[in-house]
Amino acid sequence: MRFCVRCGREFPREQLIRGYCIDCFKKYIGVFEHKPVLELIICPKCYSWLFRGEWRVPMSLKDIIKATGTLEISRCIRSGLQLIDLEVFDITQKKSEFSTHLKIYLKAENTTFTVIEEVQGSVEYRACPRCIARSSGTHTHLIQIRFTKKNPPPRLIESVERYLQKLISQSELVDIKYSDGGIDIELDDAAIARRVVQALSHEFSAKITTSFKAVRFDHRRGTWRGIVTYSLRIPVLERGDVVIYRDSLCIIKDLRGNKLTLLNLSSNVYEEAHLTAYWSGDLKCPSRVEVERYFVKSVEEDKIIIVSESSRSELTIKRRPDLLRIRPGDFVLLIKADNIEYIVPGGLELLR
Ligand SMILES: [Zn+2]
Ligand SMILES: [Zn+2]
Repeated sequence: MRFCVRCGREFPREQLIRGYCIDCFKKYIGVFEHKPVLELIICPKCYSWLFRGEWRVPMSLKDIIKATGTLEISRCIRSGLQLIDLEVFDITQKKSEFSTHLKIYLKAENTTFTVIEEVQGSVEYRACPRCIARSSGTHTHLIQIRFTKKNPPPRLIESVERYLQKLISQSELVDIKYSDGGIDIELDDAAIARRVVQALSHEFSAKITTSFKAVRFDHRRGTWRGIVTYSLRIPVLERGDVVIYRDSLCIIKDLRGNKLTLLNLSSNVYEEAHLTAYWSGDLKCPSRVEVERYFVKSVEEDKIIIVSESSRSELTIKRRPDLLRIRPGDFVLLIKADNIEYIVPGGLELLR
């Protein structure tokens, strides 16, 4: 056992620091060699913060104080002490000044102890380089998301939005702008841009065209600086749409992500198709579709006579293999898709 040089109380030797008991050490010597001051630099726009010369991803003020405090406290404590951990208790902020109570876990040669210290600090608000670049419109990458139809259904836009939220983490500094025609994403990180473009084109079978627009010549690097634009077009197809798939008239019965379930109207067979068929030319969307219902007046050996419900005009059609079961009194549909005519057995419920 040893005695504290200050208060004279008896302690096991390993509980003394430089001859002082922990209480006397805290009170008369203090854990700091010099007073810590926390100087924070935070971007007022995106809340990223400057730490050891580098802009870090946005965090809460508490976490920023903890990270900055850990560095500053270990610089300020007396030699022989070692910082183990730090907790931020409270923060009182007044304009650009703040004070905070920190619980500091320390290790001396043979013992560990904690102190609670009030530490002063300041916050300087300074725009980060990305926000400066953004506000001066010098983003380097632009992703334009557009659709093959002028008014895409809201569910498609919503699913693109949801997917973007998953794809781009909050810490990545990108600007997302919505307009009538689609969504624009401005950013200045080539790797993120490529990742977003690839994921979107995969998820929504979007077609990508890439272009580069030079903005100014960088004399230092000897290259043109500009904007890389990725234009993505997402095919818009909906349930109930009449399409032509591999030269057969089909109706879209279901649509899940990239997968389409088509009902082949001439064979009455369900087929699966992938959205990429839209770009390969296998799947065509007629720009004009007209449907007229006819009833079957008479069936002869090689021909069928049908009568339009609306105009009462008669039409004679060939008795094709897929029309063999047609009986007088049945209904057929005459579907004109881009001026190609198809006769399909069945009523309008087919198109639902
Ligand atoms: Zn003492
Ligand atoms: Zn910023």
